[in-house]
This record gives sequence, structure tokens and C-alpha cells, in this order.
Amino acid sequence: MAGNKGTKEKGWLEFKYRNTGEPIRFPVGTVYGSGDGPTLLVLGGMHGSEYAGIEAAIRLFNEVDPSKLKGTLKVGMIYNLPAFVNNLGFLIPHDGRNPCSTFPGTPIGTYGEAMAYYFDQEMLSKADYFVELHGGDIPEALTPFTIHPASGDAEADAKSKAMSMAYNIPIVVKDDVSNPNDPPHAAFGVFQARGKPAILCESGQQGILKMEEMQTHLTGLRNVMVHLGMFDGQIVNTVKRIFLEDYVQARSEIDGMWYSKVVPNDLVKKGQVVGEIRDYFGERIMEVKASADGIITMIRTSPAVKPGNVIVEHGRIAGRDDSQ
Ligand SMILES: [Zn+2]
Repeated sequence: MAGNKGTKEKGWLEFKYRNTGEPIRFPVGTVYGSGDGPTLLVLGGMHGSEYAGIEAAIRLFNEVDPSKLKGTLKVGMIYNLPAFVNNLGFLIPHDGRNPCSTFPGTPIGTYGEAMAYYFDQEMLSKADYFVELHGGDIPEALTPFTIHPASGDAEADAKSKAMSMAYNIPIVVKDDVSNPNDPPHAAFGVFQARGKPAILCESGQQGILKMEEMQTHLTGLRNVMVHLGMFDGQIVNTVKRIFLEDYVQARSEIDGMWYSKVVPNDLVKKGQVVGEIRDYFGERIMEVKASADGIITMIRTSPAVKPGNVIVEHGRIAGRDDSQ
């Protein structure tokens, strides 16, 4: 797509999965501003049942006035459409992969890897800035947070942190993606590793489209666009921020039933038991402890777990912003 300045267009990005001939489709839109500026990509539905981010992406595309925009806004409304239409948490139904493990992808890999490859070619690699929207999948409860990846490129890392700050969400998480032996495979991490600023934003939960959680995203997105000079306006800044590092996604190692002893926003001490897994007969078979003094951002709300399921997320409190 290459439209004229001051116009808006929407439609389907369509590809064919080489291995089976199945279609790969993404609903996308572009707003071509009337003035010069950067290209921002906003993507909803990386996880197809995280509706707050999807709805915010759709609303942002519709509300932005091309005559007032400087630069180009590209919006992917729903990345993982196969999960969306099937009410499926996290995974791409064709290959059982979490899309956050598939970037930058390959056209001859699994279906999900081919999705990542084509989306990267047409959308991700053409943007200057990237916001990846999430919203707590069907079995997750969370408190809103943003993640800015740290790649070791000081300039890009400072810019992504500034975007996280502009999002007006109280919890700001730094995620180290600089280890060459453990390269990122989530879209926002891959983008940052290329020296371009990206953030991941979480608001929403449990397969519910709650308008105030959607609005958190929409306010954050408007703020990021003002911050990037894409349109004039005031940045809404109403929160006190807590900065988290050493972010942990604790996973189940076994089949069983998960019982959380914490809820999102709880403060925890290092070594504190945050939950346990019992077998189907009620016997405790795994205990999960906090790895540092920190704050709980997400808990799995479904008791049903298998190895690899994320059951709780938390980070070490590295600082607080009391400027508000
Ligand atoms: Zn997600």
C-alpha cells in the first residue's frame, strides 16, 4: 500500500502458506498524514483473544484524522485472527505455537512462522516505531503494565523507555533482550534488536472486552503519537510509576491444578510462596516462590495447567517515580 498524503485506507494483507496453500490474512489499515513524520505501527491481537488491545487498535485507526497527522500510522487490527475466530487463548491453531515465539519467522516454517515472516516483510520492517498491544488472555488476570526492551543500543533503548513512560500506565517493565545466545522471538523484541524502538502494552483480561481497560490503551496510544510528534496535543500523565527489572514469567513444570495465593498488584517478598500446583488428588506437587522483592503483574486464573503454562509474572522493584 502506498497512498497519497492526507488519506486513509484499509483492507486485507493476504498471503498463501507455501506448505499447504492455506491463506494467511491480516486486517490492516494505514493513515497517511498530511505532514512529514515517522511511521508508527500499532498491532492488536498478537494473542487473538485479548480484546482490549484489538478494540483500541480499531478505534485508533478510525479516529485519527489524516489532515492533522504528521507521518504515517499503520494499524494491524488482529494479528492472530485464527485464534480470534476460534476463541482460543494464546496459540495459533494450525501449529500450536505462541506467536510471541515465532518472529522473525520464515515462509517455509510452520504456519505461525510464515505468518510472522509475511507480517514482518510488509508491516514490521517498514515501521520506525512499534507498539504491540496485549490484553490478558482468557485464563489471565493482570494489572496494566508496559514493557520496554533493552537491546544494548543506548539511543533506541532510551526511546522505547520514553514511549513506555508516555503510555500513562503505572507499571513500567524493563526487559533485557541483549543476550546474543537468547535472541528475542516476540515481534517487539525483534524490532528493538534491530535498533528501532518498540514497546509491549498490557491492559485487559480474561476474555472480556471492558471499555475502561480498552480506554487505557487508547489514551496510551494517543499519548505515544503526541510524544512522537505525530499530532499536536497534551500528553495525559496521571500515574505514579513503579519500575520493574528482572522480570519473571514463572511456568508450570507439571500437569495439575494451579492455586494462586496472590492477585495482580500484590507486593511480595523474595522467597514468599505465591502459589502451588496440586495433583488431581489434591496433593501439593509444586510450590512457586517469588524470586525477588517485587510486585505481581499477572496471574493465571484457570486452575488447569500443563508444563510450560505461565502461572504468575512478577518483577523486582528497581525504582519509583514520585514526580506526580
Ligand atoms: Zn498477550
